[in-house]
Amino acid sequence: MSEQVSPGKVRAILEKHNIHLRKSLGQNFLMDGNMVRKIVTASRLLPGDVVVEIGPGAGTLTAALAGTCARVLAVELDKRLLPVLEEVLGGLQNVTVVFNDALKVDFDRLVAEVTGATTYKVVANLPYYITTPLIMHLLRQSGVAGMVLMIQQEVAERLVAGPGSKDYGAFTVAVQYYCRPEILFRVPRTVFFPQPEVDSAVVRLTKRQEREVTVDDEDLFFTLVRGAFGQRRKTLANALAGAKIFPGWTRTTWEEVLERAGIDPRCRGETLGLKEFAVLVRACRQRLM
Ligand code: SAM
Repeated sequence: MSEQVSPGKVRAILEKHNIHLRKSLGQNFLMDGNMVRKIVTASRLLPGDVVVEIGPGAGTLTAALAGTCARVLAVELDKRLLPVLEEVLGGLQNVTVVFNDALKVDFDRLVAEVTGATTYKVVANLPYYITTPLIMHLLRQSGVAGMVLMIQQEVAERLVAGPGSKDYGAFTVAVQYYCRPEILFRVPRTVFFPQPEVDSAVVRLTKRQEREVTVDDEDLFFTLVRGAFGQRRKTLANALAGAKIFPGWTRTTWEEVLERAGIDPRCRGETLGLKEFAVLVRACRQRLM
């Protein structure tokens, strides 16, 4: 087994392999051993678990995850990091590194191919430039049981926001539809190399075994959510009419449907919770019958 890398040595390994980190790839590497341990503890991994890490970087978190005896599957975009990862993780039997764009990976399939497992956890210090699309991509993978993610503080606030707050949006509704999100702890920018311009937070997203709301048509649910938040300054009836969700539905049609759903057509989309969106789906379907 190769020794677990100490975050303090990361810089030296990168220098040795002549690697200059790229901001464009969200390459802010963790340099604080305590923070790595906190993330691993928060992940609550058990021997035999399968864990997917996105963006292993220099393998610091990867090695610590492997230390729990979970099976680690790490997906990294930057092929320059191959010799670094070989050096750091080379002897670890329970780690597999795959070079690919995480946004394009079908994780359910990859995990099944490599490990045979059908469920897995995701633990990652995510690249900042694609945090939101990556979380959306992971939410759609049915095998993800839960995630512990380091993300920008500002995105973390959006995950846990409630209706009516400035951070609440289509992304919040989508995440809360699939998961129960919690902010676990804040992370100062000083623990990274190079230091990012923002502070971060570690969040846990626990996949709901049963959805909080019953939605008859998920596609319509997400279309309505996008429509409602598309033009935040407009009243809900105007925003939905402007989104042109159903041909021929005018503001008056939407006012009638919203009233039938018990929702004030003059309210703003951002005041609607998951339950109201689910009721609105039903009202639209009834109108379409
Ligand atoms: N896990 C390491 C750590 O904590 O020190 C590195 C984290 S760094 C914030 C993000 C990592 O994601 C980098 O290694 C970067 O190269 C990688 N990355 C960026 N875009 C990616 C993508 N589309 N797919 C997979 N990995 C990506």
